Amino acid sequence: MATLQLMFAQFNNVYFDGEIPAHEIAYNNRFSNVAGRITYKPPKIELSPKHLRGKPDHLKDTLLHEMIHAWLFARGENPGHTPAFKRKMLELGLPSIYHDLGTAAPLNESPKRYIFRCEHCRREGLRKRKPAPATRCGHCRRPVVVFEVVEMREVALPRASRPAAAPR
Ligand SMILES: [Zn+2]
Ligand SMILES: [Zn+2]
Repeated sequence: MATLQLMFAQFNNVYFDGEIPAHEIAYNNRFSNVAGRITYKPPKIELSPKHLRGKPDHLKDTLLHEMIHAWLFARGENPGHTPAFKRKMLELGLPSIYHDLGTAAPLNESPKRYIFRCEHCRREGLRKRKPAPATRCGHCRRPVVVFEVVEMREVALPRASRPAAAPR
């Protein structure tokens, strides 16, 4: 989505001196309990429309959070929630690594490190080990695209962000 790409470009200039290489930024309608996800091969940040669309503050915080991972990775540093990550986070005014939507805990230690995705039938799977280069979709037998995951974060919505009562 063009707006997300513009946000990325703007934040990259303002907060990261333009040091983050180009990433594809996209909403992923399939996310149900993940707010944001970054993969670095190929470089891509995916965001949950369910949790973030129409919530500019949460969207900005989550995108910036993922961009810190991308920035550290681009600098050849450990892209996890390291002290360097926390320093940058504080510099940008992000309150906590658990910031996004209030109570989301990072799942950096998740053993699931690879996603394979069939671009044809949109199926996705998670693997601990890198799938073999010739891995094919179990459904349509076409070759799958493999992503290496830096992190996935599960989201638990805080009470405060439950939808307000329907307007009358
Ligand atoms: Zn993170
Ligand atoms: Zn398929």
